[in-house]
Amino acid sequence: MNILYHSTRDNAKKLTASQAVLQGLAEDGGLFVPDELPKLDVDLKALKDMDYRGVAYEVMKLFLTDYTEEELKYCIEHAYDQKFDTEEIAPLTYADGAYYLELFHGATIAFKDMALSILPYLMTTAAKKNGCKEEIVILTATSGDTGKAALAGFADVPGTRIVVFYPKNGVSPVQEKQMVTQRGKNVRVIGITGNFDDAQTGVKKMFNDAVLKAELKEKGFVFSSANSINIGRLVPQVVYYVYAYLNLLKNGKIAEGEAINVCVPTGNFGNILAAYFAKQLGIPIAKLICASNTNKVLFDFFATGTYDKLHSLNEQSGAFSDERKFMLTGSPSMDILISSNLERLIYLIGGSDDAKDKALMADLNEKGAYTITDEMKAKLTDFVGGYADEARTAKKIRDLYENTSYIIDTHTAVAGAVYEDYAKESGDKTVTVVASTASPYKFARTVMIAIDAENASKDDFTLIDTLCEKSGVAIPQAIEDIRSAAVLHDIVCETEEMPAEVKKFLGL
Ligand SMILES: *Cc1c(COP(=O)(O)O)cnc(C)c1O
Repeated sequence: MNILYHSTRDNAKKLTASQAVLQGLAEDGGLFVPDELPKLDVDLKALKDMDYRGVAYEVMKLFLTDYTEEELKYCIEHAYDQKFDTEEIAPLTYADGAYYLELFHGATIAFKDMALSILPYLMTTAAKKNGCKEEIVILTATSGDTGKAALAGFADVPGTRIVVFYPKNGVSPVQEKQMVTQRGKNVRVIGITGNFDDAQTGVKKMFNDAVLKAELKEKGFVFSSANSINIGRLVPQVVYYVYAYLNLLKNGKIAEGEAINVCVPTGNFGNILAAYFAKQLGIPIAKLICASNTNKVLFDFFATGTYDKLHSLNEQSGAFSDERKFMLTGSPSMDILISSNLERLIYLIGGSDDAKDKALMADLNEKGAYTITDEMKAKLTDFVGGYADEARTAKKIRDLYENTSYIIDTHTAVAGAVYEDYAKESGDKTVTVVASTASPYKFARTVMIAIDAENASKDDFTLIDTLCEKSGVAIPQAIEDIRSAAVLHDIVCETEEMPAEVKKFLGL
């Protein structure tokens, strides 16, 4: 089956998978979706002894149908190799009632590596296939983890350049250090004075700026995206949900056909959307539990059907009566109020109605909110929304450590807490996989303070050493790398100056 892609805001214009990867975001501001969601056409039993690369091929070939077998296998072999510190690539660890799917064994120790290790290969292959002559300029907005993973993936890749924008005061010290020490002739890292949403909006604006794009084209450049709006990010993320299910099956933790729940710490809605796609593929998934931190815009959405970036749901009154403030939390990669990938779900539950999607997104843009119809809401029964505040998240880290000596990062702990609360309230005993999205080393300060408040007085690298002693897990290379690395990027700009900074970098 040949799958084509189109914008959530325009069903008519079709692209091949490789063209969609290359372009990143549709010209009308919509996100690319497949014309049809593919189904796994093989028996899961036949896949359960495959390694990660084998499963990756079986899944990705269903979505990226214009890549040849040879091309796709080339991309997969080069992505999922020794850059990962475990042969399993995405191991499962059981602790205190849940299976933690560890997605942080790649080069930059966050789950973004799962997709960003392969995206540069998918993109350069796409450029070759489509006779793209321009140099590809990857524009990336990051809440902390995408930036480094994209930099690591694209550094010194011929035919590409990459510019990363991050909120100057909105990322963890380790996240910032990882980015500003990035080497490579084709990379630029820029802090902005706003928050992640400002960075993301600024990047989307550049994508939709016809004048800027024409100017670039004349000089031999073309924009693309490494954010999770690119289907080249989304598709590789479907793989690990399939792989996790097969792992449970293979090890007798579930019976053939038995459904599992997945619980995902969510920001831009990319990771959990990939789980939804895995379910559509035919993987038995019962509930998709969407976990937020105090920026609980998605919790409010699943509770009411209204997505409101300006007002927050008051759970007592049931009204959106409180002003919604952007909160900086200990899980910064989830500090997001405009979850881009939700648009894909809105489109799908709206019956693939492009006009309807466009109208709702216009509401969000103009009024700061939209409300879906009851008919659409009825299609969200697979989803459960939950959130955990800072105290609840810290308690989860501490409890899990005290009960099992397993240490999880702050984002994973948001999901762990939401799942624990959900299981208690609902009595749902379904085997559950919690997406573990970052190494605790990446957020060592917050994690160690959660375990023991006295740690607050210690410096970051002392805490990293203490974390090592307590967890018995070796310090990842990514952390060793930044201990002594020199800062190579120190530009900070206002949101309005983002296009000017890009032009400066490209020498325009
Ligand atoms: C990006 C990120 C998330 C959120 O993932 P989305 O796909 O944006 O929902 C959660 N945890 C960590 C550690 C991340 O880096």
